[in-house]
Amino acid sequence: MDYDTIAAISTPIGEGAISIVRLSGPEAVHVADRLFHGRRRLVEVDSHTIHYGKIVDPETGRTVEEVMVSVMRKPKTFTREDVVEINCHGGLTSVNRVLELILDQDVRLAEPGEFTKRAFLNGRIDLSQAEAVMDLIRAKTDQAMNVAIGQMEGKLSQLVRQLRQQLLDILAAVEVNIDYPEYDDAEVMTNQLLIEKGTAVRKELERVLATARQGKILREGLSTVIVGRPNVGKSSLLNQLVHESKAIVTNVPGTTRDVIEEYVNVRGVPLKLVDTAGIRDTEDVVEKIGVSRSKELLKSAELVLLLINGNEPLTEEDRQLFQLIVSIPAIILMNKADLPQQASVDEVKALAGDHPILQTSMVSEKGLEELEQAIANLFFSNSVASGGEAYVSNTRHIALLKQAHQAINDAIAAAEQGIPVDMTQIDIKRSWDLLGEIVGDTVSDRLINELFSKFCLGK
Ligand code: GDP
Ligand code: ZN
Repeated sequence: MDYDTIAAISTPIGEGAISIVRLSGPEAVHVADRLFHGRRRLVEVDSHTIHYGKIVDPETGRTVEEVMVSVMRKPKTFTREDVVEINCHGGLTSVNRVLELILDQDVRLAEPGEFTKRAFLNGRIDLSQAEAVMDLIRAKTDQAMNVAIGQMEGKLSQLVRQLRQQLLDILAAVEVNIDYPEYDDAEVMTNQLLIEKGTAVRKELERVLATARQGKILREGLSTVIVGRPNVGKSSLLNQLVHESKAIVTNVPGTTRDVIEEYVNVRGVPLKLVDTAGIRDTEDVVEKIGVSRSKELLKSAELVLLLINGNEPLTEEDRQLFQLIVSIPAIILMNKADLPQQASVDEVKALAGDHPILQTSMVSEKGLEELEQAIANLFFSNSVASGGEAYVSNTRHIALLKQAHQAINDAIAAAEQGIPVDMTQIDIKRSWDLLGEIVGDTVSDRLINELFSKFCLGK
């Protein structure tokens, strides 16, 4: 199927100095050729070659930009259409000029995600792979990047296809039972078979769903809050964490004063450190608000690092903070371990309950390795290190997997109660349909439009 020709500025991941204008569609090469002045005409060059030249405004004859142009003819392209990429070295204005010239040639500005959408519509990638492209763009750490890449390479799709095949086998077996009821015992046999085969599928679904939590954390970062009374060493800990890894700092606008989120990578676990602004401004009101402010922050916390000053006896405020974190995953740091210890270890143990306790010093860097290990242990208990698995991190995928799990569960339960297999067939079919939605075999146009509109422009 032929679509119209589209173009957009497509900034590479990581945002280098080069900007790319990307064209895709039947007219891509002709349009680029009209604006390009180089040693050879672009319409004559081999596919998948790069050419140096100039983009010239056809009306004024003025050179707009020096460029490198890649010509890639279908079908071996990202969109499976003719694709031209114009690499511009200049700033944003010259890139925009190039794009404007192209749009003057009866080319339409691509909608967000439209290149990826075409790759999907032209059968180049499936839906879960398309969604992975989006995740990749937003990936916060290397590990998150790996999950997205794995998905893009089709690990999840592969698994889903395999499970759908298994469900199809069950459906086929049920058909046999309906078509040839004269076989004695067929029903009992098929019920047993259904339970057996259905359970295998259910187990696989459970296994991949178990990775959902990790997948989500990998993608979005684990909301981590550092709490403790003033002067216990929160800022020092933050600096240590940020120093160790390449921190990404993002501002979340729209709050009375912008909350700063910092992403740090602790042994592959991305921590989203919340309200680091409050921690950084040592003497400001935030720290004076103390417990009530902490309470507010703790509402959204998935991990708490609670610091106490080991160099001083525990105070009432320390005890209150312990109360606040009873039901949240937390690690207790008895800080300033390089100084004489005054806090009662026994009392800390009693207050900490199941939370691990570490002796740390931000001065001698004692306990920091242990802290990293404790964080990794808390959340990934070995499962992440293995890699190479199908992780699910996308909310839509998780929802569909859960529903598919429910459907197959219903089928198994019915079979166990001896309900005739032709009645349970519907549930199996439903499970098969739901899994199909993950890879895009059974989705509606509306959903597809919705999904792709969420992509970044130029992807
Ligand atoms: P915050 O108010 O909780 O953010 O605490 P800071 O990180 O600003 O630290 C308060 C003071 O304690 C500073 O002078 C730090 O240098 C010092 N401090 C922090 N951690 C340690 C530690 O482990 N040992 C020692 N001796 N001093 C520390
Ligand atoms: Zn501080």
